[in-house]
Amino acid sequence: MTQAAHGVTNWARNITYTPREFHRPETLDALRALVAGSARVRVLGSGHSFNRIADPGGDGVLLSLAALPAATDVDSAARTVRVSGGVRYAELARAVHARGLALANMASLPHISVAGSVATGTHGSGVGNGPLAAAVREVELVTADGSAVTIARGDARFDGAVTSLGALGVVTALTLDLEPAYEVEQHVFTELPLAGLDYEAVAASAYSVSLFTDWRQPGFRQVWVKRRTDQAPVDFPWAPAATEALHPVPGMPAVNCTEQFGVPGPWHERLPHFRAEFTPSSGAELQSEYLLPRRAAPEALHALDGVRSAVAGVLQTCEVRTVAADPQWLSPAHGRDSVALHFTWVEDTAAVLPVVRRVEEALAAFDPRPHWGKVFTMPPATVRDRYPRLADFRALARSLDPDGKFGNAFVAEVLGG
Ligand SMILES: Cc1cc2nc3c(=O)[nH]c(=O)nc-3n(C[C@H](O)[C@H](O)[C@H](O)COP(=O)(O)OP(=O)(O)OC[C@H]3O[C@@H](n4cnc5c(N)ncnc54)[C@H](O)[C@@H]3O)c2cc1C
Repeated sequence: MTQAAHGVTNWARNITYTPREFHRPETLDALRALVAGSARVRVLGSGHSFNRIADPGGDGVLLSLAALPAATDVDSAARTVRVSGGVRYAELARAVHARGLALANMASLPHISVAGSVATGTHGSGVGNGPLAAAVREVELVTADGSAVTIARGDARFDGAVTSLGALGVVTALTLDLEPAYEVEQHVFTELPLAGLDYEAVAASAYSVSLFTDWRQPGFRQVWVKRRTDQAPVDFPWAPAATEALHPVPGMPAVNCTEQFGVPGPWHERLPHFRAEFTPSSGAELQSEYLLPRRAAPEALHALDGVRSAVAGVLQTCEVRTVAADPQWLSPAHGRDSVALHFTWVEDTAAVLPVVRRVEEALAAFDPRPHWGKVFTMPPATVRDRYPRLADFRALARSLDPDGKFGNAFVAEVLGG
């Protein structure tokens, strides 16, 4: 099916893609033929990125996999699931949970596609939890000539093949590791001071911990503590428990959020902050995020406190999470246990960009790597210097896609040649 190319936007509507054609193939054969017959191709997942990462440009073809048959094939004995390229975490989680199994972690929302999320290094939180790509054991691609290639864990190319920015081919399916289903309780605390903060202890106080602040004053307005019920009880002596259900964005309704007050529930209804049936986050926003070595967290938080008044003017909420080191060559958590400093900005690019620059200057000493799917202004050469396996990734991309069919302006700029 071909649709008019104009008017296709991302979720945040700050990006209008500019392809020559937009297709939603209904069969794998049609997809292969489209890829083989086009000079420039990018895939659009659920469109939750805030920059031009998915845009093929005016001479290219944009593909959505949403009309292909959706598969979530669980292998209970092997504890794996094979999920097709257009499926979102919400449907995947329901299918997996129905079989008594679980993913190790989820992002703040279940609305995002699995393939698009792992392509950009999307993550949740937890000192022991890698990015969502860490669950992937096999990637199935349609490459430039329309042929199918499978790259599995153990293959020398694997660490380049998952967090690939969509630059290797069309991901038609991924196989993910699962574990037995578990329950999680979510406890929210308020007003955690920055002065004297033992970030390591706070971050490690449960399976997944997120700190939120509006930076209107020092310290954190909320701390979301997600405890697996098969792990130690929550001991959080640093801040008082919330007395009402909260949304991380001040003033937004808590009904959009997953259940709080320590009520145990299935993993997929507690690990995301936002419920699948509601608009996640504020819905009218831009986002930026930087991953830096976790050991730098205390100093980095004080550096942000130093630009607090500039940040607060255009901020809806700032979230601080942890991500365990990841072997994927292009993962923002590559090779280092990381702290992730996230900003939900107001929906005003002109007002936000100068503040993004201020934040990048404030964090520069800590070697931050920007989230590939969010707004950043760092010079591409600076970004490149932070990826020691970049040359390996480029070589992999050249071997699978010699003519750069799956490249675009964003990838060319940030990865260089
Ligand atoms: C409200 C909101 C909350 C968010 N929360 C988090 C969070 O908690 N943690 C976090 O890390 N990020 C978060 N993000 C960012 C988001 O997870 C990433 O932008 C992610 O890439 C979105 O997935 P997508 O399917 O929408 O990708 P898209 O934006 O559609 O695409 C991203 C990239 O993946 C490629 N791609 C997509 N599908 C395929 C495929 N099948 N084959 C090949 N390439 C493909 C695209 O070409 C593009 O390069 C959030 C975003 C929003 C809007």
